[in-house]
Amino acid sequence: MTFQLPALPYAPEALEPVISARTIEFHYGKHHQAYATKLNALVPGTAFENASLEEIVMKAEGGIFNNAAQVWNHTFYWEGFSAQRGTAPSGELLEMINKEFGSFDAFKTKFNEAAVNQFGSGWAWLVVNATGNLAIVTTVNAANPMRDGLKPILTCDVWEHAYYLDFQNRRPDYVNAFWQLVDWDIIASRLG
Ligand code: MN
Repeated sequence: MTFQLPALPYAPEALEPVISARTIEFHYGKHHQAYATKLNALVPGTAFENASLEEIVMKAEGGIFNNAAQVWNHTFYWEGFSAQRGTAPSGELLEMINKEFGSFDAFKTKFNEAAVNQFGSGWAWLVVNATGNLAIVTTVNAANPMRDGLKPILTCDVWEHAYYLDFQNRRPDYVNAFWQLVDWDIIASRLG
């Protein structure tokens, strides 16, 4: 199986000024693409030759895991955004947020803290846990919460390459601005 990046569901400049077309050019066009290219070079001749991307993320270790998970994580990140701004959680998802965090604003504050305090490279996630409740988790490098039995519904990439061109070292500013891009209709659809 050859893994290819899905086309982005918006124009490269659609997320500006939070994520510039220049960042898309590098983050999607170079970093994300490089993980897919590397994965395609590593998989032939291994037990994962006919495996789906998700199967590899769930079972692989080492370089195959790292590259497969980074392909999955980045696709999930890009597909959580849309050119439509100003959506907000509603219905079942809003009820789950209010139940777990008290309010949407309190949830965002807690998520921002997790994203900002993730030391070094990694990801912040909103997940559904085994009891069906929402939780905020962070992972290091390529790690993916599906490996811990959690169902991701939203992620924020906090590797420096995600924000350095637009925010330099100011991760808190990137994380605060990230909310402008999240399409909550898409996030709600991930509850399944
Ligand atoms: Mn990234």
